[in-house]
Amino acid sequence: MAARIIDGKAIAAELRAAVGAETRRLAAERGLVPGLAVVLVGDNPASKAYVGSKSRAVVEAGMRPLDHHLPADTSEDALIALVRKLNADPAVHGILVQLPLPPQIDASRIIASVDPDKDVDGFHPLNAGRLASGLPGLAPCTPLGCIKLAKTVHASLAGLEAIVIGRSNIVGKPLAQLLLAENATVTIAHSRTRDLPALCRRADLLFAAIGRPEMVRGDWIKPGAAVIDVGINRVADGGKSRIVGDVCFAEAVTVAGAITPVPGGVGPMTIACLLVNTLRAACAQAGLAAPGV
Ligand code: NDP
Repeated sequence: MAARIIDGKAIAAELRAAVGAETRRLAAERGLVPGLAVVLVGDNPASKAYVGSKSRAVVEAGMRPLDHHLPADTSEDALIALVRKLNADPAVHGILVQLPLPPQIDASRIIASVDPDKDVDGFHPLNAGRLASGLPGLAPCTPLGCIKLAKTVHASLAGLEAIVIGRSNIVGKPLAQLLLAENATVTIAHSRTRDLPALCRRADLLFAAIGRPEMVRGDWIKPGAAVIDVGINRVADGGKSRIVGDVCFAEAVTVAGAITPVPGGVGPMTIACLLVNTLRAACAQAGLAAPGV
């Protein structure tokens, strides 16, 4: 039997609508309009496209977009000065510096300069530490989206065997921490892992965040497992190109119980979770209870 397709686009649209409703309620009852500052340095076309769709989603949710576009030759000190200004601005509740940054700027210094309470990307070392320690904080958006998608398959992830392939700071590691917080039993795999197919075959939940087109094959998947494919890989197809995930969808769909497509799976959830984080940050800064989304 073919797997259920997890429709990330529809699930993300629902989440964005819920955030929008909560944001409008906050504005009406408390006069609080969450502001998200998105900082883009240079003209990387992919980054420009991401920033554009983030700003549109922010406006649609009733939040205030506060975009900053700096030239590609901006110095590290000038960018840090802008981040400090945004840290101090009470109208700014969330700050996102779009990565990658030009080579003259050390991304880790920029990430560390963002006020952790406004760090809606969840990349600041303090937020990584809070997540690892089980303390309240802001977690990265893509892993948050993966958990929300997995929970559309299993209302509780407790006791399930999960494998996360990939250990980056932006996806694999925080995803593993979020799964632990959900009481899943977590294996983290990476490029040095031995016999990855055998490890994958044990997993009730398989998360692929590798960046290698269609690496995970159908016979690696436990029958009935939920497969969440984070990968975004552009591959040549005849004279054109198309986007594929890290999982061979055509094979996996015949074995898995549920699977995310690429595109239309994890991707749309990332922006929806950015809105959730911005709303959470605004509520926390105003001393209000965490929103129910
Ligand atoms: P990174 O390149 O930072 O990390 C990739 C990870 O995959 C590393 O931990 C690496 O291991 C591991 N890996 C590489 N080759 C293998 C292999 N042969 N076997 C097992 N593990 C391997 O990537 P990101 O985490 O930033 O992104 C992963 C994918 O997710 C990319 O396709 C990216 O485009 C996509 N992505 C999608 C997002 C979305 O919104 N949908 C958001 C962010 C990323 P090691 O550590 O040993 O090198």
